Amino acid sequence: MKTISVIVPCYNEEESINLYYDAMTKVKNDTTKFKFEYWFIDDGSSDHTYTVLKDLQALHSDEVHYISFSRNFGKEAALYAGLNEVKGDYTAVMDVDLQDPPEMLLEMFDDLESGEYDCVGTARMDRDGENSIISFFSNGFYGVINKMSQTKIIPGARDYRLMTRQMVNAILSMTEYNRFSKGIFSWVGFRTKYLPYKNRERVAGKTSWNFWKLLKYAITGIIDFSERPLMFATWMGIFFSGVSVLAIIAIIIRKLVFPLSSVTGWASMVSIILLIGGIQLLSIGILGEYIGKIFLEVKKRPIYIIREKK
Ligand code: UDP
Ligand code: MG
Repeated sequence: MKTISVIVPCYNEEESINLYYDAMTKVKNDTTKFKFEYWFIDDGSSDHTYTVLKDLQALHSDEVHYISFSRNFGKEAALYAGLNEVKGDYTAVMDVDLQDPPEMLLEMFDDLESGEYDCVGTARMDRDGENSIISFFSNGFYGVINKMSQTKIIPGARDYRLMTRQMVNAILSMTEYNRFSKGIFSWVGFRTKYLPYKNRERVAGKTSWNFWKLLKYAITGIIDFSERPLMFATWMGIFFSGVSVLAIIAIIIRKLVFPLSSVTGWASMVSIILLIGGIQLLSIGILGEYIGKIFLEVKKRPIYIIREKK
């Protein structure tokens, strides 16, 4: 019998954890092909997540492990912590809120066993039940990142996936501080299949995402996996240098043809100064985003800090 290691990041999920465990146990009881090794990560929760995990571990110490962080480090850090611990033949990454259907693991497992794939991921076919503004920007994000980056991300792709030990090792070899898992999963390559499924609502609790967090996450994704935005200043510089050469020629010709023309164009001058100023600030801002990431990388701070592990 093979072992699937399941990494489950939990941030303020006291209500979901036991529901999740029960749903997973049902899947396990339906098959003789695999058993589970759980790695729950308490990502510095401020509710009773830690106690719930501790109790669950005490009851099922043969299969349940947990790591409790010293504070909230974010889901990406939690995933990395889990990947560092797993021992199973295959590794799954799952949310605890049951938005990632556990029964899909059976099909994912068979696909890996067939030897045809190294990873089976999941992608939502729809975004039912999601805020429509967020859906609009999410769809836009996939368009932008796939245009800008060599690393392609399937629209609607979730982190929920099952992968081989080889792929886990490849991900662990990426020790970057700024972790954007959707990009990392794609960057390491390997033969990946995506299973489509219908979006599900959370069983309990509420999502930790809001519009601004998602926007920041999207910008992180683009900056981590594309150098294209750095070209913005170059292209704008070339364009406006060209325009200014034409403008200078036009002004000289006008002076020669109408030597006595009076001074006009104050409004257009101000608009041009504002435009160029805006573009310069935007360019500096883009540079700043990259420098900020470099700053975080060179400090080599740990990606997470463990308070307790069992
Ligand atoms: N999560 C985490 N740390 C955080 C935020 C979220 O470990 O700082 C976990 C959360 O408990 C859940 C998963 O990441 O298991 C996905 O979070 P959520 O359901 O809020 O995201 P969504 O499904 O809405 O994308
Ligand atoms: Mg969720």
